[in-house]
Amino acid sequence: MDKLTIRDADVAGKRVFVRVDFNVPLADGRVTDDSRIRAAIPTILYLVQAGAKVILASHLGRPNGKVSDSLRLRPVGQRLTELLRRNVPVTGDALGLGTEDALKRMRPGEILLLENLRFHAEEEANDPAFAATLASYADIFVNDAFGTAHRAHASTVGIAKILPAYAGLLMERELAMLSKLLEAPERPFAAILGGAKVSDKLKVIDHLITKVDLLVLGGGMANTFLLAQGKAIGKSLAEPDRVQDAQRILAKAERNKVRVVLPIDVIVAKEVTRGTEYKTLQAEKIPASWHIVDLGKASQDLMVDALKDVKTVFWNGPLGVFEIPSFAHGTNAVARLLADRAEHGATVVIGGGDSVASITQQGLADKMTHISTGGGASLEFLEGRDLPGVSVLLDRPKEPKARASKRAAPKPKTTTPVKPAAAKAAATKPAATKAPVKATKPAVATKAQAKAAAKAPAKAVAKPAAKAPAKISAKTAAPKASTKSVVKTSKPIAKQAAAKPAAKAVAAGSRARTEKRS
Ligand code: ADP
Ligand code: MG
Repeated sequence: MDKLTIRDADVAGKRVFVRVDFNVPLADGRVTDDSRIRAAIPTILYLVQAGAKVILASHLGRPNGKVSDSLRLRPVGQRLTELLRRNVPVTGDALGLGTEDALKRMRPGEILLLENLRFHAEEEANDPAFAATLASYADIFVNDAFGTAHRAHASTVGIAKILPAYAGLLMERELAMLSKLLEAPERPFAAILGGAKVSDKLKVIDHLITKVDLLVLGGGMANTFLLAQGKAIGKSLAEPDRVQDAQRILAKAERNKVRVVLPIDVIVAKEVTRGTEYKTLQAEKIPASWHIVDLGKASQDLMVDALKDVKTVFWNGPLGVFEIPSFAHGTNAVARLLADRAEHGATVVIGGGDSVASITQQGLADKMTHISTGGGASLEFLEGRDLPGVSVLLDRPKEPKARASKRAAPKPKTTTPVKPAAAKAAATKPAATKAPVKATKPAVATKAQAKAAAKAPAKAVAKPAAKAPAKISAKTAAPKASTKSVVKTSKPIAKQAAAKPAAKAVAAGSRARTEKRS
């Protein structure tokens, strides 16, 4: 990685402001999926053990600049306290005298969690004064919030321009895993894209098509590609205004000799609900009143066969309406195959809230090589874009060639705190790597270093809770309900979600909505 990490910083006795992504789903005042909290633990423990005063800060949901009691970080503080077995107090506000007081009282090795940053509109506005106040709390800034790295906010970019800014261990692992996909994938390399909206995924497909050997498309977004091939898709979810983009991508794939696998048969349903009538049809002429909701058996076999030798895979987006068990077969079949590939040494990286929920639902998350904590951020990274929260971190100084070849993993120690300007001047541009996609992209400096980076922390994401977010009707933006409520009734899920108490629904949906690159 060409960014300095906490391992390069001298943090003993220092106040360290750590931006984490604790944007987790809540229900009844409890965290229902703590995977993002667990993912931040290696960084927190490293800093605690190194004798830093650890100031944690995160957003939760979308309070839009106002205090919202249902989006307080107290349940997160409680969960963190349980996981770390040490007290993690939460301040009543990210700003104010009480917080300043608590900060003053901190001793080395202690942890303090600031209240939801987005209770202040200045956070998302990247307000310089707000960033300066946050910066005044600390000597060093650490960004471990990969899921928010595609956002230029006060706590991701503003503060990093004031304090010496380092990557956390989760950030390091995310960047190493995703960089490997773009820069040095073992072949054959496949991308599997599914999910609801093709418009969310066009850019990433466009970029990945220059990298992969195989592109597998499924889920709602494949319907637009079926339209592009002149097929009839009935009432299925599709974006007709994207048909030309789909055609262009198919033509580009052909030019680049990328094999594209689209569904050949599909499960169609009368309604996108549980308990509805459904059957298998060829993916050719779907009658006007039916919805495509899953892969058929022939498509599953075709995809599993196409993927059976892959050495590297990136997967984003379920291949059907997996929240309804009858329509989860395609997603499950591919997940099983990928778990098997990963166990046989392939690199399997999965990103996206619903994709992760679908494999967690099957208990396969632990088998995969890497589960990204960032949906939108992972897609933007794989689009070949620079993430503002990453660009702003300190660059790793270039090693003289002779020394670099002698040392497997160069780890220059910088003295901290350094004046940011001086630190940045001292840190020269990253060492040139074989064939970086973009000169500015975080690149893995050496193979050994990539391995070391990929190894620590051992498993970035531990088992998320079993509850998976449930189906939103393709056309509504209703907050997600829990799978449990789907099981009990055959009402359309969107209606069930809408019928939920507002606070609960917002909390449960907070993650899903941030996944939509909020
Ligand atoms: P991720 O969160 O992994 O990025 P998306 O949010 O893009 O994935 O897509 C997930 C949603 O796509 C799920 O709610 C799933 O029900 C929906 N979906 C998948 N296939 C279809 C389909 N054929 N028709 C309608 N919705 C679909
Ligand atoms: Mg999603």
